[in-house]
Amino acid sequence: MRRIDLTKAQAARSSTIRDINRQFVLNYIRDREPISRAQIARNTELQRSTVSTIVEELKAEGLIEEIGAGASTGGRRPTMIRLRAAGAMAVGVDVTPTHTTVASCDLKGRVLASERVENVARPEEMTARVVECVSKVVARDGGGAAAVAGVGISLPGLVDPATGRAVFIPFFRWRDWAIAEEIERATGLKASVDNDANAAALAELWFGRPEVSESRDFIIALVAEGIGTGIVFDGQIYRGERGAAGEFGHMIVGQNGPVACSCGNSDCWEAFASEKAAVARYVKNVGAASGESVSFDDVMERALGGEHAAIEALTETAHYLGIGISNLIVGLSPEAVVVGGRITRAWPIVAPSLEETIQRSIRRGLPSARIVASTLSEPTLMGAVSLVLARKFGLAED
Ligand SMILES: [Zn+2]
Repeated sequence: MRRIDLTKAQAARSSTIRDINRQFVLNYIRDREPISRAQIARNTELQRSTVSTIVEELKAEGLIEEIGAGASTGGRRPTMIRLRAAGAMAVGVDVTPTHTTVASCDLKGRVLASERVENVARPEEMTARVVECVSKVVARDGGGAAAVAGVGISLPGLVDPATGRAVFIPFFRWRDWAIAEEIERATGLKASVDNDANAAALAELWFGRPEVSESRDFIIALVAEGIGTGIVFDGQIYRGERGAAGEFGHMIVGQNGPVACSCGNSDCWEAFASEKAAVARYVKNVGAASGESVSFDDVMERALGGEHAAIEALTETAHYLGIGISNLIVGLSPEAVVVGGRITRAWPIVAPSLEETIQRSIRRGLPSARIVASTLSEPTLMGAVSLVLARKFGLAED
């Protein structure tokens, strides 16, 4: 399991020693649970009284719990501590171009209560719907707001994590949407935002398979309506100036893709390798005359069912996905590239075309990154939840 890098934590934020010790103890419990106060003190070389104070604080915040006595090492049997296993710990709000999900999760990322919100055109109305659902899921799972450490929000657009505002969401054409502020005001819970790709990268750090979560440098390519990329350097999300890094969806990979990109151009990676592009290829393959409306799920289902036109549409899309990933590998040399999104459900169809394209373009002698499918079925929802966990545990985030 991942351990926090204390030198980095200290450098990355202007915390007090007390905050750092607190995060250190919390991570230590997460790594070694169940564990006693005495063991923590002995192994971390923190004062026994410091450990006891921190443990009491974490218990009061509902992050850890006592689970009875462990084996004696001579004296009284020590009380063992672990992360709190049951009950809602965080609320995730996952806004996507098609719909929005609000869910409460426990510390292991298990969904306890979930609400689906239909998107609406007016941001004020959307805010009201989301706030209502947050209150609903918090109330539904015992403990209420007191047990919940915060709300994380994943958005399909440019966000400013410092102010908690969505700067611009292209799909809705909303500017300066103050969703975090509104949730905080209505529920009293601390809310944080990030864009969907960064949130998904954080979810990989927190809940992903060990070969990804233990990598120092990796990239996630999130395939959805568009293509988002999240970059993790040295165990931290790389954001760039004003959070604008990772817009690789707009790098040029060809000419006249099958659909227009959300920016209006049709030469972007997104125009060639997004879900929309796969659907457009399929419609072209079967002949547009049918007039039938086809969704990405339909294409996936038909491809998995063996329909040639659908397999071809996915294979060609994977080829272009591979071109973009090759460019990222050549430029950034990550240890791993994670592909996230619904397309991973057809991994046996997608992977060969992806791998072939990437292998062809990687220069000989250069290290090659592992290409893996995300194991998370809802990476952006898990990402929203991870925003809360990251803040509590001081992992890769402020
Ligand atoms: Zn574009």
